[in-house]
Amino acid sequence: MPAAGEREPIGYRCSTLAERGPGCRARTFLGPLVALFVCFQQSDAPLGAEMRPDPEAASGIIERTAVAANRYMIAASHPLAAEAGLEALRRGGSAVDAAIAAQMVLTLVEPQSSGIGGGGFLLHYDAESGELKAYDGRETAPAAATPDMFLDESGEPLAFFDAVVGGLSVGVPGLVPMLERAHREEGELPWASLFAEAIALAERGFPVSPRLHALIAADKYLKRHPATAAYFHTPEGAPLPAGHILRNPELADTLRALAEEGSAAILTGEIAAEIVAEVRGFAANPGRLSMQDLAGYQPVVREAVCRAYRHYRACGMPPPSAGPIAVLQTLGMLERFDVAARGPWSVESAHLFAEASRLAFADRTYVADPAFVDVPVGGLLDQRYLLERSERICMDGSLGEVLPGTPAIRKTELAPPADGMIRPPSTMHLSVVDEQGNVASLTSSVENAFGSRIMVRGFMLNNQLTDFSFRPEVDGRPGPNRAEPGKRPRSSMAPMIVFGPEDRPVLAIGSPGGSRIIGYVGKVLLGVIDWNLDVQQAISLPNITNRNGPTDLEADSSAVALQEPLERLGHSVRLVPMTSGLHGIQILPSGLLGGADPRREGVVLGD
Ligand code: GLU
Repeated sequence: MPAAGEREPIGYRCSTLAERGPGCRARTFLGPLVALFVCFQQSDAPLGAEMRPDPEAASGIIERTAVAANRYMIAASHPLAAEAGLEALRRGGSAVDAAIAAQMVLTLVEPQSSGIGGGGFLLHYDAESGELKAYDGRETAPAAATPDMFLDESGEPLAFFDAVVGGLSVGVPGLVPMLERAHREEGELPWASLFAEAIALAERGFPVSPRLHALIAADKYLKRHPATAAYFHTPEGAPLPAGHILRNPELADTLRALAEEGSAAILTGEIAAEIVAEVRGFAANPGRLSMQDLAGYQPVVREAVCRAYRHYRACGMPPPSAGPIAVLQTLGMLERFDVAARGPWSVESAHLFAEASRLAFADRTYVADPAFVDVPVGGLLDQRYLLERSERICMDGSLGEVLPGTPAIRKTELAPPADGMIRPPSTMHLSVVDEQGNVASLTSSVENAFGSRIMVRGFMLNNQLTDFSFRPEVDGRPGPNRAEPGKRPRSSMAPMIVFGPEDRPVLAIGSPGGSRIIGYVGKVLLGVIDWNLDVQQAISLPNITNRNGPTDLEADSSAVALQEPLERLGHSVRLVPMTSGLHGIQILPSGLLGGADPRREGVVLGD
């Protein structure tokens, strides 16, 4: 039931031609852009019967306690990376310094997730100037890219892994040039010193983690590239066991070159030539990268997208990421509901979150590289627009699949994104707060687990170009996220920083998870802002996502108890493993509080 004073029109619109009752389903009558909604009663349960607030219903917080520190902190996806970041902070390094030191170690110890052969986004808050910058190190398509590059001879989209594995999916790796620019602007320690820990570890070797072992063992494609096959397997061809000490002298050399020469060491010269040769020479699936593509890469510094939510202001990476926009839309649509009273995962809060998420997800189609497409960011985040969208949410039934809305200033030609693909868990997020109060929120990725599966000089090359829509057009209209020369594929990565009432940062957060990132990050914001959880409790809450289709509940979590009541509301429910990798830091008046996702191997360290 709505709390007293809540502006929540239960039954409003839902009892008219628009959404109404359990099993509310979108039906398209007038072409792809116009939908009428026809609702039908599916259940004879009294409306709202199962909608009573029940905060205990699925609060199932996975046990782990937040880590506290006073001066500085890093939350990262691997203990050795967090240690490298902590060491940089102890030497007086800035948040960006610590992020770089940790990222270099991650290239070595989490090759399945991120690294110097991939890309990323860094959101940075400068405590002295109050400036917030969004660094874009997203991979770019080669000059020889064409909209039909992911179609087969008969004009049909390639099978996902046929496109991923090999050279075709490899974009220009933008991570190092982006970090280099951020370091120029926000670094304190010498660039070269940030590589020392990763170089030493690569030479000494590190123990293969249980997670890395499991992902090697599960991957069918690692043996398609000779260097990759040799690196991740024993001489007999078995996956490296957990605990095996893995050395990577080639990566040590590459990192040494990066330390001395900067990003030019991999974007020009010998290493670049080797990248190009491996990408173009992958016989079964050759790519199109050239030396000019690599040498011409430019990171971009963008203005963050921000929107108020309750007494806070949440900011994140703008396009080409669709992630933070969708998170902000979800929150914007939930603002008129008393989410706090409904508690972490009651049936009502799960229903509301899933419905707002599906509406936000439908609008993701507007987002693509802003250098190629006019993305109506303002329209998508507009108060009135979100209220209109939100008013379609029924308390007493699920909308089912919805169409995108019509935000103001829409210049984009619509075409559905490529989706429904299976993406083994990769990507990483780390958050850092330094002694001066600067904040770095970095999400980076090689896209799929182990990227394109091509290893060059000790590191994995990304497959980020498969984040483009495979079909260049639908019904004769060009898709905004089609592959084009020099273009950055749409992302869902959502590094975010939340500001409190005094406009000081209060939370840095982000996660891997492909397009589920939106739900993972959204959950933490609700947890911290509406439910007063600390960042660890919010991270540990069961994951619930809706990507404009079924409502997915985290398998083996207490959210499973929501299946039946949500199904009664017309949700099509699936129980799926959801390996988020949320790493966040809360900045409280009393100090720093950090949380690491219990679903992965990360830790929080600080002093
Ligand atoms: N490539 C994805 C994106 O940019 C991230 C993949 C993942 O999180 O696993 O949205």
